[in-house]
Amino acid sequence: MTGIDDLPVRDELRGKSPYGAPQLDVPVRLNTNENPYPLPEPLVERIAERVREAARDLNRYPDRDAVQLRTELAAYLTNTGKYPLGVENVWAANGSNEVIQQLLQTFGGPGRSAIGFEPSYSMHALIARGTGTRWISGPRGEDFTIDLPAAERAIAEHRPDVVFITTPNNPTGNAVPPETVLALYEAAQAARPSMVIVDEAYVEFSHGASLLPLLAGRPHLVVSRTMSKAFGAAGLRLGYLAADPAVVDAVQLVRLPYHLSAITQATALAALEHTDTLLGYVEQLKAERDRLVTELRAIGYEVTESDANFVQFGRFPDSHAAWQRILDRGVLVRDNGVPGWLRVSAGTPEENDAFLDAVREVKKESE
Ligand code: PMP
Repeated sequence: MTGIDDLPVRDELRGKSPYGAPQLDVPVRLNTNENPYPLPEPLVERIAERVREAARDLNRYPDRDAVQLRTELAAYLTNTGKYPLGVENVWAANGSNEVIQQLLQTFGGPGRSAIGFEPSYSMHALIARGTGTRWISGPRGEDFTIDLPAAERAIAEHRPDVVFITTPNNPTGNAVPPETVLALYEAAQAARPSMVIVDEAYVEFSHGASLLPLLAGRPHLVVSRTMSKAFGAAGLRLGYLAADPAVVDAVQLVRLPYHLSAITQATALAALEHTDTLLGYVEQLKAERDRLVTELRAIGYEVTESDANFVQFGRFPDSHAAWQRILDRGVLVRDNGVPGWLRVSAGTPEENDAFLDAVREVKKESE
């Protein structure tokens, strides 16, 4: 049988595995930071209506620049981010993964490098690899915060073209203080200057505010966002960025023409009409996230401070074995490969109860 390595694949892909959170069919799935609530029925109706309209024009290519959608996304950011943005500041793509890919195709690539402070979102490194960008694994402190002097040293030493800052961070859950982001931006400008990408996929769940206001006067800063988490629309595949208009012009040099289908644009516009309802679920999930933190600590686990819709908990002598014992009780959590720690996404109150029962038993077993 022919295997990947029998094909003339690029050297840097040899022996590598694709991104793959297990998609197992178990009663309680709390492993991919999805929103557990299905879309409300009136929104489902509205999506069907807008998609029906869009279907009549499917013989034509969609709006290549997604102007209406970007205008509505800019309005959402302006309303929630305490910083005025227009269509010229916003770009959208199929999930923030594609946004990040376009950014690395534009600002990274062969002969260039990108740094992230790990553990962090593993796709940053994988997209770097896919775009031929050299990846530099930057440091994080023992408590999973960014160790600023060490991070500044790493930037000065490697002079990366792109700096990733994920806040709230995945998989650890903690947010990066704005002063740290500003200091890293300054360090990155002094070193090269480089582009700084703040990945705010989970910011709607944060105790603090979005870093959008930092965009003022900083043309090398990009904030990336997604409808996969707070909007409960992971299946839609809609991510977006906010930045200086020059960045929006630059990513258009690499985007595929008509990359956002008319169906995607219509669906996202329908979801944005229901922003208030969807953000109501965010409040429920934040309360459940806080409950998970409190109860996990009461059971005797260590928990990293969380500003996201998930919680990192430990410590386990063997986190993979613990992951399996939780799975044996019908609850799927995530082993992100951070030694000693696992991650659980906030689900519905019932799902979270099932999870807490499972980890209570696992804790008892280990005593
Ligand atoms: N950034 C971070 C930090 C994430 O955790 C995720 C999803 N797990 C993404 C980006 C990508 O999300 P999407 O492509 O669904 O927008």
